[in-house]
Parts: sequence; C-alpha cells; structure tokens
Amino acid sequence: MRLKNKTAVITGGARGIGKATAEKFAAEGANVILVDLKDEEVKDTARGIATDGVQVMGKALDVTNKADVEHFFTTLQEEMGMIDILVNNAGITADAQLLKMSEEEWDQVINVNLKGVFLVSQAAGQIMKEQKQGVILNASSVVGQFGNFGQTNYAATKFGVNGMTKTWAKELGKFNIRVNSVAPGFILTPMTEAMPDKVLDMMREKSVLNELGRPEDIANAYTFLASDEARFITGTVLSVDGGVVI
Ligand code: NDP
Repeated sequence: MRLKNKTAVITGGARGIGKATAEKFAAEGANVILVDLKDEEVKDTARGIATDGVQVMGKALDVTNKADVEHFFTTLQEEMGMIDILVNNAGITADAQLLKMSEEEWDQVINVNLKGVFLVSQAAGQIMKEQKQGVILNASSVVGQFGNFGQTNYAATKFGVNGMTKTWAKELGKFNIRVNSVAPGFILTPMTEAMPDKVLDMMREKSVLNELGRPEDIANAYTFLASDEARFITGTVLSVDGGVVI
C-alpha cells in the first residue's frame, strides 16, 4: 500500500476524476476527505467508497469561500492531526470565444480554478509547514500547455495553475512540501460526457493512441505523485494525455 496511514483532502471529489482519485487513494491505504459543493452528493460518494481500514468522509465546501476554507482546515487538523496530501481537483468551465465571453463567465472560472486553488493551498500549506511535510497536487490541463478555442478563461487558469505549482515548489521545498500538477488530456467524466459525439471523436483523434482517457488514468498519476516513490519530484507538470501534447 503506497499511501498507508496518510490523510488526503480532494476538492471537487463528488464525481469524475476526484472520485476516481479518492477510490484509488483509499485502496492504497489513505484516509480521504472529499469536499464538494453539494453536501448530499459528496457524502453519497464517500459512502460508496467505504473501504476496510480507512476513513472516507464527504464534506460540503465551496473552495472560493476563504472563511469556510480556513474553518474547514482548522477543524480537520484538530480531527485528523496530519494533512499529508492535498489534491486541488475542483475545476469548472464556462466556454465562449474571447469576443463573446461575459465578465461573469470570466469571473466564475477564475474564482474556482485559480482563486479556489490559491485559498485551499494557502490554508493546507500552513498546516503542512507546521508538520514539516506535505504534498500538494494541482489539476492542470493540456489546455494549460497549448490553449484552446473558446476557452480564454479556462486556459488562463490552467496556465496559472502551472505557474503557481512551480512558484510553490520553490517556496515550500524548504518545509519538505512537494508541489506538482497533472495535465490531463481529454478524459471521459461528467465534464466531457455532455459533449456531442463529433467533438469527442475530434478529441480522440488528437491522441496519438487514438483514445480518450479514463478518470483512473489521472488517479494513477496523482497516486504516484502523492506517494514516497515521487519523493524527489517537485515543480513538475506531468502530462497524462495519450500523447496529445508531444
Ligand atoms: P467534474 O465536472 O466531473 O467534477 C468537478 C467537481 O468539482 C464537481 O463535483 C463540481 O461540483 C465541483 N466543484 C465545482 N465548483 C466547486 C467549488 N467552488 N468548490 C468545490 N467543488 C466545486 O470535473 P472533472 O472530473 O472532469 O475534472 C476535474 C479536474 O480536472 C478539473 O480541475 C478539470 O479542469 C481538470 N481536467 C479535466 C479534464 C477532462 O477531460 N475531464 C481535462 C483536463 C483537466 P458541481 O457539479 O456541483 O459543480
């Protein structure tokens, strides 16, 4: 078991990649706290992952609310003692081309994908500094490497996540905190399943393996980066994209 006795927080964990990551972490021996917007949904997901010998809990948390984020981590530290791993997975899209994008669409995506990652990492990072250990993993995207038509706001956040990853790796390394991001290609989750078949086919063709990814592909990368096997890896952006970006 690669994460035995570790405690992990996963944001946006009610479904998709966050849920798959929680399943994998629990199977590897970690206690997992899933947070998400909808209380019932995240608690249902946590119940569904119940694994012998580990705790899996679901809690409601909006990552954009600074007071709630700080309260969540203070309480969690009291309850769990250590917080070893944070996965900043929560992310949204609100697509429109530059000339049509509303200020609201810009603000929504920046708030969750950038400010949310900042707030949660600041609160968790403080605890990890006191512990003198920790791992922070951020959800990036291939869009954070080559941009994407119709995703001005989303691309800005994923390029930004990579910038924060490298900055925090430099700032927090001295406290034995590693910071990395994972850049998924096109993964079949509720975020992408709603897209028309034509678009999914186009995404498949962009992979040199001619495949779409599965949430487990990303969960496996997070598991490796969270584990001690990655003890010498920090400040990286790991592409898990079937060769979309080569
Ligand atoms: P999903 O949309 O399936 O899941 C995201 C979860 O985050 C949802 O449960 C959502 O809740 C939750 N969430 C949204 N806003 C907040 C908030 N303010 N606070 C807490 N939770 C919130 O996403 P995926 O699993 O597809 O993606 C996960 C991450 O991976 C994202 O950061 C995404 O950008 C990234 N990614 C995904 C790719 C893909 O192809 N799927 C490709 C590249 C990157 P609700 O449903 O209530 O809004």
